[in-house]
Amino acid sequence: MRNDILLALNSFCEEKLAYYAKNRNFDYGQPHNNVSALSPYINRRILSENEVIKVALKNHKIGKIEKFIQEVFWRTYWRGWLELHPWVYKHVNDETCQGTIPKKTGIKCFDHWTEELIETGYLHNHARMWYASIWIFTLNKPWESGANFFKRNLLDWCPASNTLGWRWVAGIQTIGKPYIAKADNIKLFTKNRFHPINQLNEKPMSVKNEESTREAIKFNPPRTLNFENHDNVGLVLNKNDLSLNKSFEAKKIPFECGIYIEEGKKSSKSVVVNSFEDRIMDETISKTPGVKVFYNYNQLVDWARNYKLNKLIFPYETTGNEILNKRELIEKLKEAQIAPFFLMRDWDRHAFPFANKGFFPFKKKIPYLLKVNNLT
Ligand SMILES: Cc1cc2nc3c(=O)[nH]c(=O)nc-3n(C[C@H](O)[C@H](O)[C@H](O)COP(=O)(O)OP(=O)(O)OC[C@H]3O[C@@H](n4cnc5c(N)ncnc54)[C@H](O)[C@@H]3O)c2cc1C
Repeated sequence: MRNDILLALNSFCEEKLAYYAKNRNFDYGQPHNNVSALSPYINRRILSENEVIKVALKNHKIGKIEKFIQEVFWRTYWRGWLELHPWVYKHVNDETCQGTIPKKTGIKCFDHWTEELIETGYLHNHARMWYASIWIFTLNKPWESGANFFKRNLLDWCPASNTLGWRWVAGIQTIGKPYIAKADNIKLFTKNRFHPINQLNEKPMSVKNEESTREAIKFNPPRTLNFENHDNVGLVLNKNDLSLNKSFEAKKIPFECGIYIEEGKKSSKSVVVNSFEDRIMDETISKTPGVKVFYNYNQLVDWARNYKLNKLIFPYETTGNEILNKRELIEKLKEAQIAPFFLMRDWDRHAFPFANKGFFPFKKKIPYLLKVNNLT
């Protein structure tokens, strides 16, 4: 799997990346060759952001692929922003409308995108923007229910990019600046596939922002990890990060490896998402020699105990991505006298402090972030 994705990244960088800035806004329909379609893999860190940009820079001068680099950083920025404003996710996650499929609307493009999303688990970025805008301003549905519909069906679902993408369209992220889907813009950027003339509300009222605009919390960087010679290290991969073992291997740190599979959430995901995730997990397991698989906390704790692990490392869990940072597991580990360590990748550690305001000031830090991540 990882090798196939690396091949796909390489061929995207060799063949398509030079035209990305010019082409990326066009939704030509499946198979969406003008964009990378890598988000389901970056999201689970089957490929890390660092690897993606490294391959891109191997093929191109930095000035020629600025747009692509910025897009990769958009996800980092959203994740950091949500980490500093965690109550915003709690609000959408508390919503009761859990991803109901919208009925046929008669707006051809919208109905098409509903089907595309359900069947493939993917929508082009521009289509996500139009779709969310039509949902909110033409169909007058709450943005939270749309975010939950995406949550159920997107292969790349990310609590930060999805919640904040919907808020941005609604005009409550960049306050008072909603994104308005316009028929002529859809016609242009779908190359005449759709033209919903006179079907869209192109002059909507702003959505009310029910939440207070509270200040960002201060970023408290989690501890960094130091290894001693006598350490018996266990690393537990999960869908938040399926390649952290590669960086341990690169640093020649000996470790026992496990993988945690979260079965309980399956009913909240579509069949397409569940089978994609099963396939990814199966392939990760088959390509990771000696890995132990856990389906519940007891299996994980027994393994840590049996192997006498004194450093048990989990990928850091950002807001909305909690899998192992749960009281029940922490208590069980405490009983077994094992202290878990949630390891934040340097990529996030460096970037998150700058995600407290808008993307514009964050963007100015990209040259610095590339440098501290040894990419320039
Ligand atoms: C309403 C709405 C909901 C969204 N929900 C999600 C989501 O749940 N998960 C998700 O990963 N993205 C989400 N996005 C962002 C974006 O649409 C996808 O990341 C992008 O379409 C993924 O396709 P790609 O890999 O072909 O992107 P490419 O154009 O090839 O970009 C390369 C990488 O950059 C990152 N990226 C690109 N555009 C964005 C963006 N606008 N925001 C954040 N990261 C970006 C992704 O990691 C992507 O793989 C949402 C956008 C909107 C408007």
